[in-house]
This record gives sequence, structure tokens and C-alpha cells, in this order.
Amino acid sequence: MTEPRFFVPKDAIHGERVTFSPEQSRQIARVLRLLPGHAVYALDNRGYIYTVRLEHVHPREVWGRIVDVQEAMGEPPLHIALYLALLKGEKMDWALQKGTEVGVSAFVPMLTARTVVRRTEKKARWARILQEAAEQCGRTRIPALHEIVTFAQALTHVREYDAALLAHNDDDIPCLREGIASIHPAPQRVALFVGPEGGFSETEVEQARAQGVILVHLGPRVLRAETAAILFPTLILHHWGDLG
Ligand code: SAM
Repeated sequence: MTEPRFFVPKDAIHGERVTFSPEQSRQIARVLRLLPGHAVYALDNRGYIYTVRLEHVHPREVWGRIVDVQEAMGEPPLHIALYLALLKGEKMDWALQKGTEVGVSAFVPMLTARTVVRRTEKKARWARILQEAAEQCGRTRIPALHEIVTFAQALTHVREYDAALLAHNDDDIPCLREGIASIHPAPQRVALFVGPEGGFSETEVEQARAQGVILVHLGPRVLRAETAAILFPTLILHHWGDLG
């Protein structure tokens, strides 16, 4: 599947015609320099992928005709929601982009006791990062981006998952292998918690434990938060998902 891929909203598809947004039109006409007759893929973010033969190509408006529809593949079999403490500057962007590539299905930014970033107006920017990363890596659904929650609010979500695990840099807690071994049967929905640059506070760790969250360490080296944000879902999708 080498043709360019674009997520389109529901109202962009009328019968057999798909109309691309001005930004996508510019990309198709100016950057990719596609011409009428060329094919692209349109993804509806609801499970279908359309092959679209371009009919009208202009930098402000591109449309084409659907010539094939298929059920979309490529989503991980395991739903991972990554509860990630807000990170400074581009680290958050990076974690969202790479997490999408790895196979995270939902991101929930968190405010925790030691979160340095307290406010952000970046939701539109983050949504764009998720969409572009999903298009680039062949996802057929854009990961969900939730509103920012406090750690206490995040803990109230835990019962919505088959399992919840929190990464904590402490040799006295079980390693991830042991944590995974304690979970039966294999989960379909998992919440993963990763702390900020300064880590989770001991109070937060105890609150999580009291809510049934499984505490795990990820190895003997201290990872940067953004590294843990990628490694943690990678290891989980290697065990229960489609990585590796
Ligand atoms: N000094 C902090 C501490 O010891 O908790 C370091 C925090 S680390 C930079 C940021 C986050 O990444 C942690 O809250 C944890 O979620 C995760 N993390 C980093 N290294 C880890 C490890 N070896 N095991 C488990 N979690 C780790």
C-alpha cells in the first residue's frame, strides 16, 4: 500500500466522491504533485479504506472518485491507553508521534504532583501530530486524544480496563515480566501510567496501588519520561499485541 493516505471526515465523502481539505489539496497538488488519474487512499477513521482516483487537482481543491473500498487492517489487537504526565516542550510531541507509530490507541495527558507543565493550549497541535503520524505509519484509526486529567481523575478510569500498570523507577517493586505474569486472562484493554521528569510521588504510587494498579519497574536504568512512554507500550504490545 504505497499510495499516499489521508484521513477524511465523514462529510468529505458524498456517494462516490471524496473531497479533500484545502491543506490536503495543497499537499496532493503542490508537494506530491499528483495529477488526475493518480490514486490516493482515503481513511474514514471508522474502519474503511477507500482507493480514490483523482479527478480534479488544484492546490485549493482536490476531489476524486472511489474505485475500491476495503475494511481497514493494521490496528493493534490490544487497546492501550497511555496515561502520560505532561512533558515539557517537544518531548510531549515526540511521545505522541512515536507512541502512535508503536500502536498506542489512546493518549490521556495527566497533571501529577511533580508535573512541571501546568497549562497547555496544544490540543489542536497534538491532534495534528497524531493524524500525521497515523497516516505516515499506516494506522487506520487516529489514536484518541483525551482531555487533560489529574492523577486522581485518572485513577477513577482504572476500572474501565482489564488491567492497569504504572511504571515506577524502584528496584523494590516487581519488574514488568512479573507484572505481566500476574495478569490472567490476556487483557484486551490496558491502561499504562508513565510519570513526569521527576517521577510519581510516593503518595501517588500508594494511591495507584490501592486502586489495583500494578506497579512495575522497566529495568535497571533510569529512562527519561519520553523514553519510558515509548518503551512501556512497546513491551506490552510485544507480549500481548502485534509487535516483534
Ligand atoms: N527520578 C525519577 C524517579 O526515580 O522516579 C525519575 C523519573 S523518570 C525520568 C520519569 C518516568 O519514567 C517515571 O515516573 C516512570 O514512569 C518512568 N521510568 C523511567 N525509568 C524507569 C524504570 N527504570 N522503571 C520504571 N519506570 C521508569
